[in-house]
Amino acid sequence: MDDLFGNNYPLTSKNLFADIILPVPIPQTFTYSVGPEIQDEIGIGYRVMVQFGRKRILTGIVAKVHQKAPEAYQAKAILDLLDDFPIVNALQIKFWAWLASYYCCHLGEVMNAALPSGLKLSTESKIQMHPDFDLDNPDYPMDDREMLILEALEKKEEMNVDQLDTLVPVKDLHKLIKSLLAKKAILVYESVKEKYSPKIELRVRLAQEYITASDKLNELFDGIKGKVKQENVLLKYLQQVPIYQKSELNKQGLAKKILTDAGCSPSSIDTLIKNKVLESFKVKISRFDPINIDENPILLSDDQKEAYDAVQNEFNSKSTVLLHGITGSGKTEIYIKLIMEVLESGSQVLLLLPEIALTTHLVSRLQKVFGDKMGIFHSKYSDNERVEVWQGVISGKYNFIIGVRSSLFLPFDSLGLVIVDEEHEPSYKQYDPAPRFHARDAAIMMAYLHQAKTVLGTATPAFETFSNVQNDKYGYVKMDKRYGNAELPHFHLADILKDKKKNLLKLDFTRLLREKIQEALNNQEQVLIFQNRRGYAPYISCDECGWIPECEHCDVSLTYHQFQEELRCHYCGFKDVVPKKCHACGSDKITTVGSGTERIEENLSLLFPEARILRMDLDTTRSKYGYQKILEEFGSGNVDILVGTQMITKGLDFDRVSLVGIVDADRILFYPDFRSGERAFQQITQVAGRAGRRNKTGNVIIQTRRPDQLIFNQIISGDYAEFYRQEMGERKQFYYPPFVKNIKIVVKHKDFKTAETASVQLKNLLSDIEGRKIILGPEKALIGKIKNLYLFEIWIKLEKSTNAQVRFKQEMTRSISDLQSDKRFRSVRFLVDVDPF
Ligand code: ADP
Ligand code: ZN
Ligand code: ZN
Repeated sequence: MDDLFGNNYPLTSKNLFADIILPVPIPQTFTYSVGPEIQDEIGIGYRVMVQFGRKRILTGIVAKVHQKAPEAYQAKAILDLLDDFPIVNALQIKFWAWLASYYCCHLGEVMNAALPSGLKLSTESKIQMHPDFDLDNPDYPMDDREMLILEALEKKEEMNVDQLDTLVPVKDLHKLIKSLLAKKAILVYESVKEKYSPKIELRVRLAQEYITASDKLNELFDGIKGKVKQENVLLKYLQQVPIYQKSELNKQGLAKKILTDAGCSPSSIDTLIKNKVLESFKVKISRFDPINIDENPILLSDDQKEAYDAVQNEFNSKSTVLLHGITGSGKTEIYIKLIMEVLESGSQVLLLLPEIALTTHLVSRLQKVFGDKMGIFHSKYSDNERVEVWQGVISGKYNFIIGVRSSLFLPFDSLGLVIVDEEHEPSYKQYDPAPRFHARDAAIMMAYLHQAKTVLGTATPAFETFSNVQNDKYGYVKMDKRYGNAELPHFHLADILKDKKKNLLKLDFTRLLREKIQEALNNQEQVLIFQNRRGYAPYISCDECGWIPECEHCDVSLTYHQFQEELRCHYCGFKDVVPKKCHACGSDKITTVGSGTERIEENLSLLFPEARILRMDLDTTRSKYGYQKILEEFGSGNVDILVGTQMITKGLDFDRVSLVGIVDADRILFYPDFRSGERAFQQITQVAGRAGRRNKTGNVIIQTRRPDQLIFNQIISGDYAEFYRQEMGERKQFYYPPFVKNIKIVVKHKDFKTAETASVQLKNLLSDIEGRKIILGPEKALIGKIKNLYLFEIWIKLEKSTNAQVRFKQEMTRSISDLQSDKRFRSVRFLVDVDPF
């Protein structure tokens, strides 16, 4: 017997093998042999069912078909081919392989991230009695426990493996199933279900006889005279489907729901169906509503035309171009022109956006131009919606996709252009789970695989990107005027400490900011207030002894959320009641310290009781259309002040915003990370860019305790180049990216000592790897414990040569798997993060 299924395969007509990507933590693919019955059909991208290990049946994807038998093991045969056509193409598999090798993870992990779960198969082992088996007269003797299982099967017909767990201990189950199989008493099979289900609409139409002969219809009306409800149904139908003018229309019929929504009685519809006047039928429909296209041609301004030509010109010699256009310069219109061109040539286009930007102005602008031809890929979409976009790409319905980073996994086969908007956005980097990829970098790789062009658009380029411009790898196009010559906002620094001394700081707001808010309110203009911290207060503390409540599972203080009246851990979600008394000294003088968005919102309502205030942060946007609702509300003008975290920095374009206030710039600037300067420049510039987009000049107030800092001058004058030059001096001196490649390894374990030992050993192994590098750590992570696991970090700084990196990563991966095969470290987790953020 060859396998679990008792199948004996005949010798294959030719020796054909397939490398299969499996959803298990093995570094590479696994080779199986291809039986003669599927040799003609199988190919890259098909799903197959295979036996993995002794008992597991898995579905995987064919990565390669070849004739080379594996050396280390005897190849098992593929059990079943699941598709009539490949569900992923060869370019996708190449892209997956690049992700796995560059980001040091398993191909199976990439596959898991890439396939919408609607296309993954759920496999559950089921057991039933062998049809030839006779329980009263078995060919082989059965022991008691085998009989137990067989008797259960006699009653139930089929059972899941886990249902059998209740009859016999799990540890013996495998053995029993195996022996029952050998005795030909049972069959084991997989019930494989496609999870995707198309959306079905129930429709009705007139029976054919009423269409071919029009007098039939008159007879019908005569016949049902007086049956008002049925008449009503027919009249409503004819109103919506004017078959007198166009009899073909009857064929597509009308959704039953349209009739019932219009007040028709469902039972009358059913009666008409029963009497064969109407017939009911089902159609597969799209989950997305149709969209109206705006026919107006786009008219680029002179500056935009110039920039557009410059991009095209750069494409002659470079495949990636940075479009560095200040906020409000009108990058969108340039994208549109580029996209149109590529679509006309018959190639596909992908436009990547950071999460939140998907619900904004930019999307509705593009929708007006491209209508239904544009597919949107949202991270909050349901599985079915994702599969629908996926299939739309394959069918050619969507040649243009705008989406979040995971849209890189869609089955494109001929991309001509990839655009990464707001390319500097840190949220393009995925942290968990693997692959821990950066969507911008992956997009450039994908464009390369398709021989496509890439545009990176931003007002504040990432240093990595700008340095590639300086090295002449990327083309460069600058736009430094706002569209329609709208003026850039005026910046003001407000000194927090000075106001505090003079007693002018009220509820976190300096006098200047309060005055400007009042002014905006008086003029009926809108205000954005930026605070990069959610919750009410970052922590609470005892006034007497300084005690601060911390998370039971993580090394962090708990954030106070006033609305729910609870303390929450922002790392693991742990919740606790707000203590009435100090747990250390018993004092009841517990105060909240610092301000998150929730408190800022409250403070604003105390300072400006007449203002209508809304808050946008993770807590208010959890639902699917959470962002959209808030943005619509703000856009409608029913709100005066919007308070929010960095979510409000992205792509908002509202005419009436005349003031942007940054409550605490120091919090962004002094974050302990080598990128904090770059981040501050980006965040402040971006949020400032929301002010005064049209007509009127806007104002930006930056509150700080250190107004003397140089970076403020650079932000205010918009002098990116000078800021870059200075920061890069430091980066070079201290070996930071983009001068080196960083890899971070996080070592996690529930036992402190084990985590520490494993990380020390890993460091030693890494140090032995040849090549120029600096290895820092292991050190306890900034937050040393999360979800009851202790965290140690090792940072590696590698020289930039690609070859050196590839070599190092291979050795590093080997070192980690060596360590993991050590009994002591089996349950230690090693997370590798290449180019960490
Ligand atoms: P960016 O993304 O560069 O910050 P946007 O593309 O949002 O800028 O454009 C800024 C504003 O100018 C938007 O309101 C947009 O509608 C308007 N705009 C830009 N270009 C044009 C154009 N060619 N015709 C009409 N309006 C334009
Ligand atoms: Zn105390
Ligand atoms: Zn926690």
